Amino acid sequence: YGDFNQKIDYVFKVILIGDSAVGKSQLLARFSRNEFSVDSKATIGVEFQTRTLLIDHKNIKAQIWDTAGQERYRAVTSAYYRGAVGAMVVYDITKRQSFDHVTRWLEELRGHADKNIVIMLIGNKSDLGSLRAVPTEDAKEFAQRENLFFMETSALEATNVESAFVTILTEIYRIVG
Ligand code: GDP
Ligand code: MG
Repeated sequence: YGDFNQKIDYVFKVILIGDSAVGKSQLLARFSRNEFSVDSKATIGVEFQTRTLLIDHKNIKAQIWDTAGQERYRAVTSAYYRGAVGAMVVYDITKRQSFDHVTRWLEELRGHADKNIVIMLIGNKSDLGSLRAVPTEDAKEFAQRENLFFMETSALEATNVESAFVTILTEIYRIVG
């Protein structure tokens, strides 16, 4: 599951952004270690996690960066964006405001990141369907308009998490590989 003793063909930096508490750290924990912790504080302070995947017969090391709480103070620095070839902009499907703020996060991205960065919109907490505040169709239309990939995920139930990361990494590989 983790890194093997192998030749790495590519290292791709992918950053997670989005409002606080949307589930960025848990998405990363799910993808990098297949874990979910109810007490998210355990992951605060971690800069990035890596996982190596085989895509198109190439060993691709995904280096996934987490804001580690900086989003609360709007203190995501340009160093965070530097060198990123992919970005996941995460909102919580039960929190309308976190979806409305996606526009701001995209502005931040476009101000700081490379113009060819691959961007994926992620509606997380799909397991909380009864509390849904953002219709899937609204997000899908928004993503189409903004030229973003889109997926709904649940870090808790491990739904679509692997698929979301594999999709963005495959797309990055198509561009730079
Ligand atoms: P971050 O601030 O964006 O990093 O968010 P966290 O990963 O710390 O998650 C915030 C809260 O949402 C925590 O209580 C998590 O347990 C919870 N959470 C994260 N992902 C999911 C999910 O997919 N489903 C549910 N129900 N809760 C989640
Ligand atoms: Mg976090």
